[in-house]
Amino acid sequence: MTMEATPGIMRWPVLEKIGPFLAAFTTRQGGTSPAFGGDLNLAFHVGDSTGAVIANRQLVAGALGIALEALVLGEQSHGNECRVVEAEFRGAGALSGETALAGVDALVTAVPGLVLAGCFADCVPVYIVDGEQGAVGLAHAGWRGTAGRIAQVTFETMRGRFGSRGSRCVALVGPAIGRCCYRVGPDVAAVLQHHDYWPEVTMAVTAGRWSLDLAAANRRQLEELGIAAVHHAGLCTSCHPQFFSHRRDQGRTGRMMALLGVRAGAGKTPEGRE
Ligand SMILES: [Zn+2]
Repeated sequence: MTMEATPGIMRWPVLEKIGPFLAAFTTRQGGTSPAFGGDLNLAFHVGDSTGAVIANRQLVAGALGIALEALVLGEQSHGNECRVVEAEFRGAGALSGETALAGVDALVTAVPGLVLAGCFADCVPVYIVDGEQGAVGLAHAGWRGTAGRIAQVTFETMRGRFGSRGSRCVALVGPAIGRCCYRVGPDVAAVLQHHDYWPEVTMAVTAGRWSLDLAAANRRQLEELGIAAVHHAGLCTSCHPQFFSHRRDQGRTGRMMALLGVRAGAGKTPEGRE
């Protein structure tokens, strides 16, 4: 997995080579947040100044060559609701948390020029691109979203709306807290233990404690759908100091941003889609 050179921004060539896609993930470096030591916090709800968050988002948008108002964000309430993003949603959640799409943790679109975005600090960003239909999906999968199969719900929404076929889609599971650092108890086990992949993605640590590989759980969910290739960033947000980590920083931390869009001017015409 290669990472691009723009300060504070990683790119995902394995997705961007599939079609006219923009696929990125920010680090904590290179921002202006007073609350986080000048870092690149991109979320409004974590005690940072609104002006700093907007300034940081402007830096990211500028580096990616997009308008900040092109972003669309969901509220991220740890549910499993997926929304189809149409052109009129442009800018939802971009300049304030209040305008984010309420109750939504996953977004899909085929509108060129819109960029789906989400905020992360340990939860799993799931990216799906469909080179055939020119559609993308982005999901926020913590343990609750993973239990709610949000990665699968996202692909199923793409299939229902755009006719996406798994064999023509490529997915990537982005940086998230790894098995090395993520310990969970009986509350999490109770909702995930009945999934077939539980033995593969966990290891018992002590009685009633497990280490959980959330990224692997989401990878398994994507593979079950027959998605052609499922890539894995393989980076633990808690181990690597270039990331914010909710667990490592005991809840007082900023957020990185995952971004995924179809580039402007690259879409199919309405006539081109069945
Ligand atoms: Zn780790």
